Amino acid sequence: MQRTDEEHRHDLTTRARHFAETELVHRAAEFDRSGHLPREIVRTMAEEGLLGAVVPERWGGHGLDPLAYGELTESVGKACASTRALLTVHTSLVCETLVERASDRLKEKYLTDLATGRRIGCFALSEADAGSDAASVTTSYLRKGEVFVLNGRKKWISFAGIADLFLVFANDNGVSSAFLVERDMPGVAVHPMSGFLGNRATHMAEVSFTDVEVPAENLVSGIGLGFGFVANTALFHGRYSIAWAGVAIAQAALEVMCEYAARREQFGVRIGSHQLVQKMVADAVTQVGAARELCRRAGRSRRERGADAVMETNIAKYFSSTIAQQVTSDAVQVLGGNGCWDQYPAERLFREAKILEIIEGTSQLQQLMIADYGYKKFAGRGRGGEDEAL
Ligand SMILES: Cc1cc2nc3c(=O)[nH]c(=O)nc-3n(C[C@H](O)[C@H](O)[C@H](O)COP(=O)(O)OP(=O)(O)OC[C@H]3O[C@@H](n4cnc5c(N)ncnc54)[C@H](O)[C@@H]3O)c2cc1C
Repeated sequence: MQRTDEEHRHDLTTRARHFAETELVHRAAEFDRSGHLPREIVRTMAEEGLLGAVVPERWGGHGLDPLAYGELTESVGKACASTRALLTVHTSLVCETLVERASDRLKEKYLTDLATGRRIGCFALSEADAGSDAASVTTSYLRKGEVFVLNGRKKWISFAGIADLFLVFANDNGVSSAFLVERDMPGVAVHPMSGFLGNRATHMAEVSFTDVEVPAENLVSGIGLGFGFVANTALFHGRYSIAWAGVAIAQAALEVMCEYAARREQFGVRIGSHQLVQKMVADAVTQVGAARELCRRAGRSRRERGADAVMETNIAKYFSSTIAQQVTSDAVQVLGGNGCWDQYPAERLFREAKILEIIEGTSQLQQLMIADYGYKKFAGRGRGGEDEAL
C-alpha cells in the first residue's frame, strides 16, 4: 500500500527522535569530552535517512518539508549539538544548496551519494582573514583548459576531518565562484583543529588547496555566482538549521533547570518555590515557546516560498540563538555549583549556545540585516508618514 506523505514525514521524524533518545542523549557528554563523533553515529544517521531528509526522492532523499525538518533538527539538537551540526553542514549547507544550485550533471555525480550518506560534505567558506566579510576570501581559482586550479587555505571547517567533498568558495580578481572539491584530489590537505568552546566533536579542520585541479564541471552554478548566489543560498538553509538548534538547546536547558529546581532543597524548601528561581523558569518557558513559533513561521514561509522567507529565517536564527544563550545561562544559575560542573549538562549547553551566536552570520550581522529590512518595510507607515498621507 502506498504510504501517504504525512505517514512518511511522521516516520522520519519519529525515527530521528528515537535515534536521539536511544543513541545520542546519554553519549553527548562523551562526544564533547573526546572531541570525536564516532563513525557509527554518522552511519546510523545515513541508514535512518536523516542525512538526506530534505533532498528530493529523485536524488536519494526523503523530500521532507521545512517544518518537519525543523522538528527533526530539534530532536537531534536537543540530544547532541555536535551531531546536529552534521545536519546543519552536510544536509542544510551542502545538500540543500546543491538541490537548488547544481546542474543535473553535478547532482548525478554527487547528490545521491550525499543524500544517502555514502559521501559526507562540508562547507568551506571562512578563512583566517575572511569571516563576517566572507566575500573577501583570498582562496583563488584560475581557469586552465578543462580544469580550474585552486590555491588557498580555509579555516573553521566543520567536519572537514571526515568529509569526502568540500563546497569551496574562491575568488578570481573579485569574481567569486563555488566549486565541489573531492578530498582525494591531489593538493588537498586537511589540518585538524581542536580546543573549541562548543561543537567539539565536529572534526573541525583547516583545509589547504595547493594547485588543486578541479574539473570544470565541478563549478557550481557558474562563474561569478559563488558568494552572492551559492553561498547566500547555503546560508539561508544553514540559518534555518541554526534557528532550530537554538530551540533545541534552550528546550534541553529548560528541562534540566525545571528538573533540578523541583528536587534541590535550600532553606528547607525546594529551590523551585523561590520566586526568583520561578522568574528564570517563567522566562525560559516563554522564550523557548516564542523561538519555536518564529522557527515555525520561517518554516511555513519557506514551504510556501514566501517573499519574506529569507528575513524570517534571519529573525528566527537571531532570536533563537539569543534566547538559547539566556536560557542556558539561567540553567547554569539554577544549578548553582553543579551548573558549573561537567557532571551536569548545563555547562555544556551553555557553551554550545554561545556558538550559535557566531556561526552562519553573527548576531551583529543578523541585526544589521533585520534593521535594514525593518526600515524598508516599516518606515513611512508610522503616524505622519508619507503612506498615511496617500
Ligand atoms: C564552531 C564553529 C564552526 C564553524 N564552522 C564553519 C564551517 O563549517 N564553514 C565555514 O566556512 N566557517 C565556519 N565557521 C566560521 C564562522 O562562520 C565564522 O567564525 C563567522 O562567520 C564569524 O567570522 P569571524 O570568526 O572571522 O569573526 P569576525 O568576522 O572577525 O567578527 C568578529 C566580531 O566582529 C563583529 N563584526 C564583524 N563585522 C561587523 C559589522 N559589519 N558590524 C558589526 N559587527 C561586526 C562580529 O559580529 C563579531 O562579533 C565556524 C565557526 C565556529 C566557531
